Amino acid sequence: MQEQPVDAPPEHRVVNPATEEVIATVPATSPAAVDAAVRRAARARRTWAALAPADRARLLRRFAAAVDAAVPELAGLEVREAGHPVAAARWEAGNVRDLLDYAAGGVERLTGRQIPVAGGLDVTFHEPLGVVGVIAPWNFPMPIAAWATAPALAAGNAVILKPAETTPLTALRLAELGLAAGLPENLFQVLPGAGPVTGAALVDHPGVAKIVFTGSTAVGKAVMARCAAQVKRVTLELGGKSPNIVFADADVARAAATAPGSFLDNTGQDCCARSRILVQRPVYDRFLELLEPAVRAVTVGDPADPDTAMGPLISAAHRDRVRSYVPEDAPAAIRGEIPAGPGYWYPATVLEAHRAGDRAAAEEIFGPVAVVTPFDDEAEAVRLANATDYGLSGSIWTRDAARAIRVSRAVAAGNLSVNSHSSVRYATPFGGFKQSGLGRELGPDALAAFTETKNVFLSTEDG
Ligand code: NAD
Repeated sequence: MQEQPVDAPPEHRVVNPATEEVIATVPATSPAAVDAAVRRAARARRTWAALAPADRARLLRRFAAAVDAAVPELAGLEVREAGHPVAAARWEAGNVRDLLDYAAGGVERLTGRQIPVAGGLDVTFHEPLGVVGVIAPWNFPMPIAAWATAPALAAGNAVILKPAETTPLTALRLAELGLAAGLPENLFQVLPGAGPVTGAALVDHPGVAKIVFTGSTAVGKAVMARCAAQVKRVTLELGGKSPNIVFADADVARAAATAPGSFLDNTGQDCCARSRILVQRPVYDRFLELLEPAVRAVTVGDPADPDTAMGPLISAAHRDRVRSYVPEDAPAAIRGEIPAGPGYWYPATVLEAHRAGDRAAAEEIFGPVAVVTPFDDEAEAVRLANATDYGLSGSIWTRDAARAIRVSRAVAAGNLSVNSHSSVRYATPFGGFKQSGLGRELGPDALAAFTETKNVFLSTEDG
């Protein structure tokens, strides 16, 4: 191994998880460099906030157009650094474009209110917070970074994004595209580095007004505690263990045909993965029979191949972690295939609850593993769905509209879908109940979450 000079800054090696090849090395950002970046961002923010709202919107639309033109390039980077199948990666890059466009549309709609009071005029203003720190995970590096970045910029803030150690390349490219599209210099900066060093420096910096953290619940709790020291605003998007509830009156064939996507998309590295499948007893065996060919039909392999639906896991360490959840001796109800050769592959795995072990049934695995549990009636389905500290998403399959509404209201989760596995849309609010998070992103209120509301009373009393 080549020795590094003693004063060389630490670097992160970016590895293609499908080939195990090092594709880039990226310098890590020191706490001193974080400090300098925050100062630069604060200056850029003043220029940005002084622009007319229409001009800010125009620049964000230009940024969106630049992302649109770069979709193939961004998708290619995502394929190589995260192992996402290219079709999914293209969708993700397009989603960044859509998020920027949507946020641009909100700039001029971010209005205060005039509130009737006695003796004067009362108005509210949405004032930008200043510098916003965004800490992103590796599982959807592009869209998740943009969930916060687009509305934060649109609301008049500067953004410093700390991407995950394993996936900094798309984030760095997005910052270049923003600058080329005309965003003020230093308004949107990307600082790669280790979470406990670069991320922690961002969290602790007094010049950062808000942190949007997306990642594991354990790190999210630590980030929240550190934010508390400065009463820093914080949004947390954390883990999940979401249910997919299939009632006997549902279109069971459709529920089974679509279930693989709900826990295998992104190789299960999805906070919204429906990894707990709850099936009403009369259709339990039939559902499993239909699920097996659907799981086997998921094409696993080279992420650069447009026909691939499932790629590798992000790293060897993560594969070991996923593997640790599946008891060696547990016969899987369904087990998929994986390619031979290099890459951090793990097969699609479906376990029946009575053989899954407590950890697999209860904890977020973040891999292509689902546990199936039978239930008798609606009350039991709701009890099982809620028997977790998480509350991010879930699906309900039934033809009974009243039941769909009852169960949707009874399940403690931020994002539920009926006869569908849809979770995230840029125009609708997203976030977790319980330990899945704090606050909401996306949707019509996304920009307001990056502002403080100021109330001003102007007396109309004479003299
Ligand atoms: P992680 O918590 O390990 O890391 C997330 C980010 O936090 C990374 O950028 C990391 O470098 C940084 N970080 C780590 N320690 C830090 C510290 N002490 N201070 C500041 N930053 C620090 O999570 P991960 O493994 O990258 O992502 C997987 C997790 O993210 C899963 O639990 C998943 O459910 C969750 N997730 C949630 C959502 C959501 O919207 N709710 C979306 C995607 C992923």
